[in-house]
Amino acid sequence: MDEYGNTGEGRVARRDEAVRAAVEQGLLGPDSPIVGLLDVTGIRESAAELRAAFAEVTAPGTPVLHAFAVKATPLVPVLRLLREEGIGAEVASPGELALARAAGLSPAETVLDSPAKTPAELREALALGIAVNADNPQELDRIDGLVRSAVSRSPLGIRVNPQVGGGSIGATSTATATSKFGVALRDEGAREWVVCAYLDRPWLSRLHAHTGSQGIPLSLMAQGVAETYALAEEINRRIGRPQIDTVDIGGGLPVNFASDVTAPTYAEYARALREAVPGLFDGRYGLVTEFGRSLLAKHGTIVARVEYAKSAGGRAVAVTHAGVQVATRTVYVPGSWPLRITAYDGKGRPKSGPEVVQDVAGPACFAGDLLAEGRALPLLDQGDYAAALDTGAYYFAHHYAYNSLARPGIYGFVPDRPGGVRFATVRDPQTLASIVAESGGAHAGALTTLHAPGSR
Ligand SMILES: *Cc1c(COP(=O)(O)O)cnc(C)c1O
Repeated sequence: MDEYGNTGEGRVARRDEAVRAAVEQGLLGPDSPIVGLLDVTGIRESAAELRAAFAEVTAPGTPVLHAFAVKATPLVPVLRLLREEGIGAEVASPGELALARAAGLSPAETVLDSPAKTPAELREALALGIAVNADNPQELDRIDGLVRSAVSRSPLGIRVNPQVGGGSIGATSTATATSKFGVALRDEGAREWVVCAYLDRPWLSRLHAHTGSQGIPLSLMAQGVAETYALAEEINRRIGRPQIDTVDIGGGLPVNFASDVTAPTYAEYARALREAVPGLFDGRYGLVTEFGRSLLAKHGTIVARVEYAKSAGGRAVAVTHAGVQVATRTVYVPGSWPLRITAYDGKGRPKSGPEVVQDVAGPACFAGDLLAEGRALPLLDQGDYAAALDTGAYYFAHHYAYNSLARPGIYGFVPDRPGGVRFATVRDPQTLASIVAESGGAHAGALTTLHAPGSR
């Protein structure tokens, strides 16, 4: 239960209804054995909670841009939905920028942050007026050239790594001593270099840090923000005017994958930040946030049919259609990324009955392709469905093409009268023709007709 007495009951009820309706309406079945489902009501609620949490802690009139980290759920209809809820986009590649633009996001609602921006990407971003955070001195050199040659409305800043340390998952810890992101602030001479970079460039008006994602404790995230704020204050003091007018605090709020409760909440994080860094909220600085996982994870569910139920070495094994292609992190690094699994019967109704320790396996041809190993659940039978919960971010929208398994269809849902569910297609299931095309189908003879001079 969270501080509002919220146990996630509404979300569970909506999810159960959606699974049943997906089977009833034929979105799920023997011929479409896997889908991704998105709870539109839940997404809207999370977006509203985010905005309210920061509205509560900021001085009236403070400009705040919540830019959704597109990498978490790179789906155009999701970006459009978030935009309608007042949320912008943080993009980190030409593809993500194209998705944001396709969703109708304006340059003023967009922030570009990637660690490997090409000159062409930078030129496009500055021509459009999109905010850019330079990752390193070489990138700042490139931006210098662009700023000299053309007028740009882009708010520009530098990304720093406060080097406050890592969390429980190395791969998502971005503020370690040797992280590849940003200017490593505690390295010798680095802080002075950053200060001088701002002194020399009156057009640098933002400062950015993202301390990490899943696995970072709130206290460490707050420490990262505090270090960034202290640097902004130091720079403005040295320059003698508030040149830095906006601090981008990144994203990274961790998600509770252990139950349906949302914890920590945006409200808790915003209050913790105001406590730790009161000066950031007194109205002198605008804010940018870049949350990804915490906005979408709990609103997505992968549902997969049990094709076969078998037994091996005394272990029950349900062979389903969801595995490494939709849950790549969980399959390869199960210790860091465990997912809850729920069992539904062949009609999509929650399954009850005694729990049996079983493996929930995927369809890919390697032994480690398991969604869950040794998990106690009502025994999954052939024709039942297994649902992988909290998979709305970094899961089914991140298809991994192992075994040429098709990308599943993704459907958004809302409750409908009376007691029904209404679905909308977010992404069509991938066709076999598309798999062939993406696998060089148009170049079938390319290699057999390629010969070195003089051979054959
Ligand atoms: C990945 C990333 C985010 C989003 O992180 P979440 O943990 O999904 O909130 C935000 N900012 C940057 C720069 C990132 O790389």
